[in-house]
Amino acid sequence: MSLNLSHYFKSFTFWELLKGMRLTGRYLFARKITVQYPEERAPMSPRFRGLHAQRRYANGEERCIGCKLCEAVCPALAITIETHEREDGTRRTTRYDIDLFKCIYCGFCEEACPVDAIVETRVYEYHFENREDAIMTKEKLLAVGDKYEAQIAADRAADARYR
Ligand code: SF4
Ligand code: SF4
Repeated sequence: MSLNLSHYFKSFTFWELLKGMRLTGRYLFARKITVQYPEERAPMSPRFRGLHAQRRYANGEERCIGCKLCEAVCPALAITIETHEREDGTRRTTRYDIDLFKCIYCGFCEEACPVDAIVETRVYEYHFENREDAIMTKEKLLAVGDKYEAQIAADRAADARYR
């Protein structure tokens, strides 16, 4: 019986509505924290795992030595590598593909790489218009690396300070 009375009382006084209005009023004049993307950007960690890139040394030589550690460690089986041995006895990739539809951006590939060749950049604004575009080939990965090398190097130096 008392439960019913309480129910009627709350119905007549719009109790639930008042509770909601109280919550709205509490946040009406509070400091706004909504980020007006894309005009405003939230801070980003140097460890952010975005689009992949392949890096080169300062002399232009590609870092990747085709050891396939990244391919072996990738839990999504997203990496496909083929290699060949050069005349000087060093090994390089003839094919290095990452299927971004499979990739879960776990970062294991960059953790496994002994020469800091494959990395994940801060780039997250990209899209595909067909399935083929989702395959990051060696050429595309190197192009991303060339374009963002300064940022990649700075991020890895900053990250190393916290390890
Ligand atoms: S980020 Fe993870 S899932 Fe993506 S390619 Fe690297 S190891 Fe594979
Ligand atoms: S990216 Fe690194 S881990 Fe992967 S094959 Fe090249 S050198 Fe080895």
